[in-house]
Amino acid sequence: MAEEYLGQNTPKLGFGLMRLPRIPGGEDVIDVEQVKTMVDMFLEAGLTYFDTAYVYGGSEVATKAALVDRHPRDSYTLATKLNARAAGSEEKAKRQLSESLERTGAGYFDYYLLHAISKDNLGLYDDWGLWEFVKEAKEKGLIRHYGFSFHDTPELLNEILTKHPDVEFVQLQINYADWDNPSVTSRRNYEVARKHGKPVVIMEPVKGGTLANPPQSIRKLFKEAEPEMSVPSWAIRFAASLPGVLTVLSGMSNIEQMRDNLSYMSDFHPLDEKEQDIIKKAQEELAKVNSIPCTSCHYCTPGCPMNIPIPDIFSAMNKILIYGQKEEGQAQYDRDTKDKGKASACIECGQCEAMCPQHIRIRDRLKECAAQFE
Ligand code: SF4
Ligand code: SF4
Repeated sequence: MAEEYLGQNTPKLGFGLMRLPRIPGGEDVIDVEQVKTMVDMFLEAGLTYFDTAYVYGGSEVATKAALVDRHPRDSYTLATKLNARAAGSEEKAKRQLSESLERTGAGYFDYYLLHAISKDNLGLYDDWGLWEFVKEAKEKGLIRHYGFSFHDTPELLNEILTKHPDVEFVQLQINYADWDNPSVTSRRNYEVARKHGKPVVIMEPVKGGTLANPPQSIRKLFKEAEPEMSVPSWAIRFAASLPGVLTVLSGMSNIEQMRDNLSYMSDFHPLDEKEQDIIKKAQEELAKVNSIPCTSCHYCTPGCPMNIPIPDIFSAMNKILIYGQKEEGQAQYDRDTKDKGKASACIECGQCEAMCPQHIRIRDRLKECAAQFE
C-alpha cells in the first residue's frame, strides 16, 4: 500500500521531464509526439507526478503540449522550479513563476521548488526574499506545496530546515552509488530530512543514467540474481524502497525507458533483504572505480564562453575509466567536440564549477581529459 504524502497516494514513480527525447538530426528540438505517448502510458499506469523546471530548455512548453493541453488538470500533479542563479536578479527570479505558468498553461503548480540550493547560491534565495515569495504564491493559490531541491552537506540542510520549518518537502539526490559518497552524502541528507519529518522527492536515482550502464562486474551481479529485471530497475527500486518518499523521479528519455520503468513501478515491491545484500555488493564494486560523477544535467554548459560540451567530454572519459573502452571513448570525444570547444580550450573562468550540483572540479578534470584525448 502506498503511503500518502501531501495528498499524493500513488506508486512512487515520478516522470522527470529533464531529459526528454530529441528529434533525430542534430537540432536540439524535443520530440513532442514521443513525449505525448510517454505521458499517456504513464497516466494509464495510474501514475500522476510530473516534474519540470524553468531551466530545462523547452521542457515546460513540451509539458503543455503533451500533458496540460491533453489531460484534465485533476488527473495529474505538476512540479516546477525557480532557479535564482539562472535568473541573475530578484525581479527576473520572481518573474519565473508567472513565466512557468504561462509556458505550461497549468493554472497552478502542485509542487514548486527553489532549485538546486547549495552554499554557493543560498544567499540569492535569502537576499531576494524568495522563501517569502513562494509562501505568498501559495496564499494566492498559484502553488499548492513548496519545497526545495538541494545539493550540499547535511549540516547545511539541517540549518535550512531549522530556519524554514514550514517547507513542505525536500528534493534530494539519492542513489545507491552516492549513498555514502562523501561529496553527495545521500544517506546523511536523507536522514536529516527524515529527522525534520519532511517527505522526500528523490532525484537522480539512476545517477544521470550512469547506473543503467554500470561496470560489467555489477551488471553480472544483478543479472545473476534476477535475469528478467533490467539493470536500472535495481537503482530505482533501491530509492523507492526508502520510507518517507513522496516520489522517485526518473528522467525518462524514450518509450523503451518508460516501458521498463512501468514494468516494476506501477506495481511496486520494495527490495527484500536478499536484494539489499546485492545492492551492498554493487556499492563495494563501485567504490573501486574512479569515474567522473557527472549526471549530464547540463547546468554548466550554457554559460561556458568556450562552448565546451563538458558532460559529453566527461561521458567519453568515463567510457575509459569505467569500461576501459579507449577507442570508443576517443571516437565519442572526436565526434562531440568536432564543432565545439575541446577540453584544452578551457580558459579556467570557473563559471561551470559554480553551477555544478555535483561539485566536480571541472577545470582539473578537463585537463585530464585533454591529456587523454588530444
Ligand atoms: S572554466 Fe572552462 S569549461 Fe568552465 S565555463 Fe570556463 S571555459 Fe568553460
Ligand atoms: S559537470 Fe556538473 S553541471 Fe555539468 S553536466 Fe556534469 S553534473 Fe551537470
